[in-house]
Amino acid sequence: MTNESTRVERPQSPALDQILGERFDLLDDGFVRVVDYMGSDASIVQAARVSYGAGTKTVSQDRGLIRYLMRHRHTTPLEMCEIKLHLRVPMDCWRQWIRHRTANVNEYSTRYSVAIDAAQTTAPEQWRAQAANNKQGSEGTLPSEQGRALTESERALHELARRTYDQRLAAGVAREQARKDLPLSTYTEAYWKIDLHNLFHFLSLRMDVHAQEEIRRYAEVIGRKIVARWVPLAWEAFEDYRLGGRFLSRLDREILSCIGRGDAAAAVAKAEEFGWLSQGEKGLKANRERAEFEAKLDELGLAVPWTAESKGNG
Ligand SMILES: Cc1cc2nc3c(=O)[nH]c(=O)nc-3n(C[C@H](O)[C@H](O)[C@H](O)COP(=O)(O)OP(=O)(O)OC[C@H]3O[C@@H](n4cnc5c(N)ncnc54)[C@H](O)[C@@H]3O)c2cc1C
Repeated sequence: MTNESTRVERPQSPALDQILGERFDLLDDGFVRVVDYMGSDASIVQAARVSYGAGTKTVSQDRGLIRYLMRHRHTTPLEMCEIKLHLRVPMDCWRQWIRHRTANVNEYSTRYSVAIDAAQTTAPEQWRAQAANNKQGSEGTLPSEQGRALTESERALHELARRTYDQRLAAGVAREQARKDLPLSTYTEAYWKIDLHNLFHFLSLRMDVHAQEEIRRYAEVIGRKIVARWVPLAWEAFEDYRLGGRFLSRLDREILSCIGRGDAAAAVAKAEEFGWLSQGEKGLKANRERAEFEAKLDELGLAVPWTAESKGNG
């Protein structure tokens, strides 16, 4: 039982204290900075051991406990840590950000105040091309000649949108209505507070290669420059088990176990049973689940059993 008269020290993260309030600049005019935080690695350990003060044992025991919690998705101790960030983000990026419902948010009001006079601009070499195989993604960039023309039309559009907005305000239109044609590239600011469990969820989705580049850049800074300083043991466990881990479905595991036994024919038979190898008029039909599994095999340095070469290799 806890002795209630025991003095409790406030958990601190000296490495995070050092950068409190410091701006990490992003994109052309965005930033993230830490405004406040509560807790540290020690708070996670303390909650997991349900004790006060004396909860912390040795660093290696704490590290082992945090890694165990992360591996086994025992996440409530992570909720004992909270962080408050001040963000400046383009509206289109913010629209993705705000889908994460488990944070506490207070955003700059363009009903109350004049909209921030900054819009995210794109340099000529930064226009990304539509990905051929992923409708939500991009790959490569457009030729610089084309990029220059796109950047110039972007500049003209931003200027027109801002001028129209300013004219409406000057004419006495209410701010809440004058803003309606401002582009999604307009920057907004917010205070965003979230606990570590939900922040890790945000980071696992938004640091992922499938996330849009702009929000991914914010997530990278929050993860690697802020969380890694704040809770280094939890961050290390997150990198090892969540960011660097890979999910294996039952289907993946059954095929992998055939590959592990060196039985490529059984692996192919399994893939056929799962409907991954259906043939169309032009040969093997596209199958997203098969493609994702093939990417996992590639990461593991394993040959795909149903490609011609590996069949040939027996
Ligand atoms: C690559 C990518 C592509 C996306 N594409 C689209 C798209 O095309 N269209 C689109 O609309 N969205 C899209 N999203 C947004 C996505 O569907 C989620 O809304 C977003 O990632 C927030 O995730 P979340 O709900 O898990 O997070 P949070 O809102 O932070 O919630 C965290 C967790 O809390 C729980 N939770 C929270 N609220 C509830 C609730 N009301 N009921 C039950 N459980 C709850 C869930 O377990 C949830 O996972 C995309 C996201 C990514 C990363």
